[in-house]
Amino acid sequence: MNGRSVCGYDSGQEEGTLSPDVLVKREVRCPLCGKDFRHWSPRSGTYSLIRRDSDFCPHYHGTNPTLYQVYVCPGCNFAAYRPDFSNLEESSRAAIVSALGRVRHEGAVDFSQPERSLFAALRSFELARISAEARRSPPEVQASLIHRAAWICRYAEELGREVRYLGRARDLYQAAFDRGVARERQTNDLAVAYLVGELMLRTGRIPEAQPYLLLVANASDAKASLVRSAKDRLYDSKQAAQIQRLLETITLFHPIAHLVGLIAAHSERRSIGPGGILCRKGEPGLSMFVVAAGEAEVYLGDPADSDPVAIVGPGETLGEMSLFLAAPRSATILARPARTGPMAVALEIIEIPRTAFRNLLKLDAGVVAAISETIARRQRENAHWLEELEMAADTHGQLEIPLPVSQSPGGLQSLILPKVRRFFGLGADHEAAEAVADQGLDGADPPSLAPGPDAEELAT
Ligand SMILES: [Zn+2]
Repeated sequence: MNGRSVCGYDSGQEEGTLSPDVLVKREVRCPLCGKDFRHWSPRSGTYSLIRRDSDFCPHYHGTNPTLYQVYVCPGCNFAAYRPDFSNLEESSRAAIVSALGRVRHEGAVDFSQPERSLFAALRSFELARISAEARRSPPEVQASLIHRAAWICRYAEELGREVRYLGRARDLYQAAFDRGVARERQTNDLAVAYLVGELMLRTGRIPEAQPYLLLVANASDAKASLVRSAKDRLYDSKQAAQIQRLLETITLFHPIAHLVGLIAAHSERRSIGPGGILCRKGEPGLSMFVVAAGEAEVYLGDPADSDPVAIVGPGETLGEMSLFLAAPRSATILARPARTGPMAVALEIIEIPRTAFRNLLKLDAGVVAAISETIARRQRENAHWLEELEMAADTHGQLEIPLPVSQSPGGLQSLILPKVRRFFGLGADHEAAEAVADQGLDGADPPSLAPGPDAEELAT
């Protein structure tokens, strides 16, 4: 991992300046302060759409036009989508000046530069949202701006921050849906309903997603592609609901019960035929497994010439330490081979990716101590955890555990806690800094866009 973050994109220019024939300029006059400036955007033909995510987030080859969607005045920072920029209502001038005045000192970005880094784009959507709120733009306009801020975080692979923005967009889309959506903007009610369901799902509010998705899936007057997406996501939400119910039974997740929906929404269900291999000893451990159905056999040696050391069944977990330590797999795990033909049962596994887990847990810094306590307790009870920890020590030479660890259980937790904290990038100072940064994103105050601590350095 290379420590990418939204904040890292301040230095986005390092990636090379765009040649002038990629960006085209448009002369614009700011309706708020009167300044003449240039808005740059990628010339059509310099990018092509690769795909869209289920919440319509586009991914492009070439220069991403999404980054250039809002006009920002480099003088006063008034910002809006192009059609809304020039038509400024006289009555909202004072409110906009006042709202922008409160955020001028934060996250300075020079918007006279032609090229927009991800950080500048994030800032542009924030400024447009602040402007839109001050001029009382409809909630679907504000939602769309915040939703795009979430996309920028997705481009930067900052899942924790993305989820915060998605949560705010979700609430605004819901407000738009509830009040019937402003018709004059030709916003489609069903598209908004779909986005409420979609963002409910992406933010871990799985049961609440389903009525919205169901509404769209059953709508006779919706676009066929929208109905298809709603049906797909309804299916995903049912899977996620099952995963959530299973994860809720797992002790490890009890301290983070409020995040289990979110973890479920970012986990995957896999099926492995009898005798199939789930993971091999020594492979990098990039995820944790929960057995949903069937049985897994755990081998410390070669499965061809040794016996399994454990049989793991539904509701049990495997590879927990992989969520916290950059440790290789300590065992080879197979789906239990069928004893007879008709008895063949596939191993159903819920896989929780480490990156998603870590990013989501950064939403709640206070939870780390509780989690590491659970880990330490589980570790004392569970030999294969110990094995993984020893293997991590062998590989990285970082833990230096005086073995046998099992004889000093109190000492074990004191070894794990700092490790887990470091994994989340949480020193005592970091924790305080993150709490401050997060207030800006959650509260009524304008977001600070201040950098959060970057835990990527621990991933190897
Ligand atoms: Zn201006």
